[in-house]
Amino acid sequence: MQEERTRWTIEENVPLAPYTTIGVGGPARFFARVADEAGLMDSLAFARARACPIFVLGGGSNLVVSDRGFEGLVLKMEIAGVRTGADGATLHAGAGTEWDLLVRHAVERRLAGIECLGGIPGTVGAVPIQNVGAYGQEAGDVIAGVRAWDLEGGSFRRFDRDACAFGYRSSLFNRPGGRRYIIVEASFRLRPGGEARIDYPDLRKRFAGLEGPPSLAETRDAVLAIRRAKGMIWSPGDPESRSAGSFFKNPILPPATVEALADALGPGAEPIPRFPVPGGGIKVPAAWLITHAGLGPHTSSGGAAISARHALAIVNRGGATSGDILELMAKIRSRVREAWGVDLEPEPIFVGFEPFIS
Ligand SMILES: Cc1cc2nc3c(=O)[nH]c(=O)nc-3n(C[C@H](O)[C@H](O)[C@H](O)COP(=O)(O)OP(=O)(O)OC[C@H]3O[C@@H](n4cnc5c(N)ncnc54)[C@H](O)[C@@H]3O)c2cc1C
Repeated sequence: MQEERTRWTIEENVPLAPYTTIGVGGPARFFARVADEAGLMDSLAFARARACPIFVLGGGSNLVVSDRGFEGLVLKMEIAGVRTGADGATLHAGAGTEWDLLVRHAVERRLAGIECLGGIPGTVGAVPIQNVGAYGQEAGDVIAGVRAWDLEGGSFRRFDRDACAFGYRSSLFNRPGGRRYIIVEASFRLRPGGEARIDYPDLRKRFAGLEGPPSLAETRDAVLAIRRAKGMIWSPGDPESRSAGSFFKNPILPPATVEALADALGPGAEPIPRFPVPGGGIKVPAAWLITHAGLGPHTSSGGAAISARHALAIVNRGGATSGDILELMAKIRSRVREAWGVDLEPEPIFVGFEPFIS
């Protein structure tokens, strides 16, 4: 059954797998495409009238949806468009705008600040939620503000950068209490004519022989090439990229713990890569811990396996179920705990599972 409205359409029992990059997930009981704020209001009224839960879907690139699907209303965020602010440096983008399109838009206008974040799938609205980051840049560094609907307060609210409280893969919006906000627009204050950020070792290597800094466009192209080699550009035809991106966060460990692990490895062993972070902790690449726990592309559960191109990605090699993904996740966590005493925290959002997974 389809219920037609002027601004939006409610569909029923819509399979969610095609709306996720990992290609897994059962149906949404109700499904609405939201193309403007009026459509958002109508959709929320629809859910309220049926007392059904709401899930906001962007590009589905950070999700594991249960095979049972979602017993509520999925709001597919499609409020799109980009405006340049009066200062010529701030870009305001609708939450449903494709993220990589915004990166291209900025690079073409020589606005620096997000050039290293090219090629990340998904929408603008999801970017502040986990403070998307890659290759030495984090979106939270340039987010000037966010406009969101407060499901509890029943009104629109604006958050400046401080109020967003960004951290590593975290913000107000993915901490307890922050799930009540539906982001409709995010603003990015960029640097007109600014130089590209070349901090990340792979990028430094790439531009080693160059006199002077590379342009923003060259930097974005280099990032795309590096990502492609790691299967981190989503391409539906390539099973090694059919993933939810990095499946685990890089753990931040106390320096003493990292020292103890290094000592246990003994002299002559390959050193543990370590990156000090503000606050005194040491970030250790989860991919390194996984590989050095003896896991790799041979590690699989049903149709789910560790990517052959990036140890941090779980890929759907074909016909994977959400159960396969959970089983493989548990296998990886338990092996890494056994080998390193480190608890890996999953990065994707789990939808439609009972009990709640985190
Ligand atoms: C190949 C690949 C590479 C990736 N590389 C990176 C990377 O380098 N760095 C990185 O940080 N991430 C990476 N990711 C993860 C993912 O792309 C990002 O987290 C992205 O921001 C998710 O956007 P989305 O629109 O697909 O969100 P979805 O997956 O649809 O949703 C993710 C979460 O955000 C919520 N959400 C989405 N839109 C809104 C909104 N408007 N308001 C409120 N809540 C909302 C959803 O409810 C859900 O909880 C990668 C993923 C893939 C598949």
